[in-house]
Amino acid sequence: MSDDAIRLGSVSRRYGTGEGAVTALAEVSLAFARGTFTAVMGPSGSGKSTLLQCAAGLDRPTSGSVVVGGTELTELGETRLTLLRRDRIGFVFQAFNLLPSLTAEQNVALPLRLAGRRPARARVREVLEQVGLGERARHRPTEMSGGQQQRVALARALITRPEVLFADEPTGALDSRTGREVLALLRAMVDREGRTIVMVTHDPVAAAWADRVVFLVDGRVEGELAGADADRIAARMTRLEALPC
Ligand code: ADP
Repeated sequence: MSDDAIRLGSVSRRYGTGEGAVTALAEVSLAFARGTFTAVMGPSGSGKSTLLQCAAGLDRPTSGSVVVGGTELTELGETRLTLLRRDRIGFVFQAFNLLPSLTAEQNVALPLRLAGRRPARARVREVLEQVGLGERARHRPTEMSGGQQQRVALARALITRPEVLFADEPTGALDSRTGREVLALLRAMVDREGRTIVMVTHDPVAAAWADRVVFLVDGRVEGELAGADADRIAARMTRLEALPC
């Protein structure tokens, strides 16, 4: 098996046709190795969300190839794509998207229930403990802080042991201290458990937690930085935002 958890080959995504057509992604080729943490950055409208959606099988590229753990997504029909998303891909979003009437452990168990599987209580407790919420299993989202809710969302995304975890601005709704806790957890998931994480962020401080930062401009990969600190990432972003369109 390849060392890449996910691989994009010349992925393009166009919206509309004729004069009003927009190219959101233009022949993007990227590989995300297993056990690595990648941040995706770029000016507004550069294609970050489209990249995440295509990589995660939530949207279909107009052309190109997306391979997750050896499976070519673009060849799958809707049902098999839905199953692959459910079983092999995890998501966290800026909005935590927890169900308010369910406790933390019920929210975490939900993906397994939706798959018709009986969630093992020990496994649910295990992931809640991994995110530091072993004591909060019976709490509902309204009884928790924003950071705790995002950690429940993270536990929910991890319950299926996904091959890739996609995070779209996961700290966007958090203050900087709580955001740091969530980023430290993401980092620990990669370092301790060999998870693969791809995170879209506009925040250089958040991106500095990743192993590498991929920069997008106008739907193209403009370059990348490995092991850079927040100042270097911010300087690169400032240069990219100053580029003429
Ligand atoms: P980012 O996440 O970097 O802000 P997006 O991926 O959301 O960028 O968008 C990339 C480009 O594609 C933008 O020009 C945007 O207007 C366009 N776009 C995104 N989604 C759609 C859509 N559903 N229909 C038409 N254009 C879209």
